[in-house]
Amino acid sequence: METRVEHAVDQLKSSGVRMTPQRYAILEFLMESHIHPTADEIFRALSPQYPSLSVATVYNNLKLFVDAGLVRELTYGDDSSRFDADLSDHYHAICTGCGTMVDFEHPPVKAVEEAAAVSTGFRVQGHRMEIYGLCPTCADKRN
Ligand code: ZN
Ligand code: MN
Repeated sequence: METRVEHAVDQLKSSGVRMTPQRYAILEFLMESHIHPTADEIFRALSPQYPSLSVATVYNNLKLFVDAGLVRELTYGDDSSRFDADLSDHYHAICTGCGTMVDFEHPPVKAVEEAAAVSTGFRVQGHRMEIYGLCPTCADKRN
């Protein structure tokens, strides 16, 4: 059985993207990660193994993966985007203490989209919603 990483590699290759060890490592890291890493976190995780890796290389590859539809970018301003290789519909909860971002499953909240369409006249294409709070670890520390 082909793994998700192999499938993604095949998809990139068939659109003419050359595979390098660094590119593969970044892709694999994203596909196996559930932490929604930033470019800098990916760089720090992989640089011990790939000493010639640069932050610019990580950025360029992330852009390539996003453009290829393999990874979703969650933007928060210029440098702090997080990257998610789980393309399924799901929501995120973010800890205001440590920045941890976790997935949670919930049916898409269509009522908000409908209310927005009525209220603004927009032809709604989607929405993004994030839950903020303290993760269990941070909540414990504050007790
Ligand atoms: Zn936390
Ligand atoms: Mn996610």
